[in-house]
Amino acid sequence: RVKAKWAATRPKYPPTQLALGHFDATYGGQMGELWPSIRVALLSERKYGALVNNFCHDAVQDDLQAMGCRDFIDDADTEAQPSYKPESASDVNNHLNDGPTQSSDVDDPPPSPLKLSPNIRCMVFPRGDITRFKPARPDMEGLLPYYLLDAASVLPCLALNIEEGHTVLDLCAAPGGKTMALLQTNAIRFLCANDSSRTRTARLRKVLQSYIPKELRSEEHLRITSLDGTYWGDVERNTFDRVLVDVPCTTDRHSVTEDDNNIFNRSRTKERQTLPQLQVALLLAGIVAACPGGQIVYSTCTLSNTQNLRVVEQAVHLAQENHAIKVEVVNLKPLTHMFRKTFHFASDLSVGEMVIPHLASNFGPIYMCKLKRLT
Ligand code: SAM
Repeated sequence: RVKAKWAATRPKYPPTQLALGHFDATYGGQMGELWPSIRVALLSERKYGALVNNFCHDAVQDDLQAMGCRDFIDDADTEAQPSYKPESASDVNNHLNDGPTQSSDVDDPPPSPLKLSPNIRCMVFPRGDITRFKPARPDMEGLLPYYLLDAASVLPCLALNIEEGHTVLDLCAAPGGKTMALLQTNAIRFLCANDSSRTRTARLRKVLQSYIPKELRSEEHLRITSLDGTYWGDVERNTFDRVLVDVPCTTDRHSVTEDDNNIFNRSRTKERQTLPQLQVALLLAGIVAACPGGQIVYSTCTLSNTQNLRVVEQAVHLAQENHAIKVEVVNLKPLTHMFRKTFHFASDLSVGEMVIPHLASNFGPIYMCKLKRLT
C-alpha cells in the first residue's frame, strides 16, 4: 500500500467544502425548507441550453429539435397574466425598513406589458431529461452554430428589452455568453462590451470571433474594452439606452463543485467579503451610464440576498443621494409567468426575480433585477 503523502500546503478544508459550509449556514435560514433540495441540485450535474447563433448558416435548430430539444423562448406561456405594477424607488427604499413584497395594486392603472429582447433562441432538453449537447461544429464560414450556457442566463438579456437602434453597455461581459445573446437580437446600433480582466477580455474577443460575422464586429458597431467598470459613470454618463450589469459574485454552483479558481479559497477571503461593495459600485456606475429613460438589468449567479436585493437597494439609494437619479424597479413577474414551464423561480423575493436550481430543471441560480431611470 502506498502511503499518502501530505503536502504542507495542502488545505485542510478545500474551498468547495468551505463554500458548502458557508451556504448551509446562510441559505439554510434564507431559503428555509427549500435549501436541502437546492443543495442537492447545486451538487448535481447542471443543465445547459444551446443559444442558437442566428448568424450561422447551418439549420441547427431542426437538428436539435429532432433530438428532442425545444426553444424555451418560443415555447413561452403567453396566456393572460395577472396585472402587475412597476415598483417605485421609494418602495425599494422601504424594503430596507419593513420589507414589503412585490405586489399588484388594483387602484393603479395597468402597466404596459413587459417587452422582451427579440430574436433570441435557446434550445433546451425537456424537464428531467439530462442529455448533453454535442460540441458545436463550425459552418462553411467558420462560425459556430450554438453557444452552450446556463439557459437561465439568457433571461437577464431577454429582460433588457433591446429595441432597434439601441446603444448598449455590457459592463462585465467576459467570457461573453450574455454579450452573445444580446447580439442575437441583431437590433443593436452600438455595443460596448467591457471586462476589467485582460485575460477574460481576450476570451470574450475569441468567442465573438467564433460566432459573429466580421462586419458586425467593426468599430462602428462594437467596442471591446478592459476597464474597471466602477469608474464608467465618470467618463460616459447618461449615454446608453440599455446597460447590463452582470457582476462578479460567489458563483454558487462553481464554488461548491470546483476547487480551482474558487472564491472560497482562503487566499481570497478579503475579495469575497468585499464583493457586495464592488457589486454596488458596478451597479451604480451602470445606472449613471444609462440615459434618462434607459433601462438597466442587474444580474448574478448567486442565491445570496446580500449580493442580490441588498445590492439593488443600496445602489438605488446611492443613485438618488449622490447623483440625484431616480430609478424605478420594473416588475419582472410577467417574465417569470412566461417561463415557469422551464425554470423554477423563487416565489417570495421583495426585489427582483431568481431562478433556483431544481433536479428536474437544473438551471441557475440566476438573480436579476430590472431598473428604469426616471431622471
Ligand atoms: N457576463 C458574462 C457572461 O455572460 O459570460 C459573465 C460575467 S462574470 C459573472 C463577471 C465578470 O466581471 C468577470 O469576467 C470579471 O472579470 C468581471 N469584473 C470583475 N470586476 C470588474 C470590474 N471592476 N469592472 C468590470 N468587470 C469586472
